[in-house]
Amino acid sequence: MDDRLWSAAVGRLDFLPDTPKLRELTLLFLAEKQFVGAHRLELTDRMRVSIAAQACLPVLELGLDWYAGFSGVVVYPGDFRVRRTEVDEDGVVHEWDDELAGEAMPGGPVVLSWDASAHDPQMNVVIHEFAHKLDMLNGAADGVPPLHVGMERARWIAVFREAYEGFCDALERGKDTWLDPYAAEHESEFFAVLSEAFFREPAETRRRYADAYQQLALFYRQDPLKRE
Ligand SMILES: [Zn+2]
Repeated sequence: MDDRLWSAAVGRLDFLPDTPKLRELTLLFLAEKQFVGAHRLELTDRMRVSIAAQACLPVLELGLDWYAGFSGVVVYPGDFRVRRTEVDEDGVVHEWDDELAGEAMPGGPVVLSWDASAHDPQMNVVIHEFAHKLDMLNGAADGVPPLHVGMERARWIAVFREAYEGFCDALERGKDTWLDPYAAEHESEFFAVLSEAFFREPAETRRRYADAYQQLALFYRQDPLKRE
């Protein structure tokens, strides 16, 4: 990995540990995954390295095999529209457009908005979508990724349910929630948003969600606070 390219790509991402291990994993990721620019986006090496390095952070201690089920990373210049279809109880088909900054397709690619990946200070769309990918390894995204031997599924579910319900409750009562309100959408979104916070703002995450922080540290096999 060229030093200048690495600095240009990740210099402002101060939550990323600048270690040989992350650089090596990033190179492997770039070799294994296929990046595609959508809507005529010309992907540069800086963009690819920036996305790959952030994507590798969650699997730094797990290994790239955890991303083995897909190969594509599609990058749009900005937020993108997807058409949604739903059939309601009466058999009526509803169609609408969603405007997205990222999407993790089950069994398919990760889709990202470069604009959101690079410039949205409220979220980390790369960590968010790749956390969904890990969650989907054992079926539909439900906020429970495949846990390691020695971890208790019941404990994970109880800890996250309590944190999620407390969060939704605070949101409903109009309290300042710190975490992105989008986390209230679904347990799987709560897991993805809390994963972003775990890596980006570990001290505050542990202060507010001590039990969930501990579960995340066990799952990701790393404690970002110990790096700081
Ligand atoms: Zn999401």
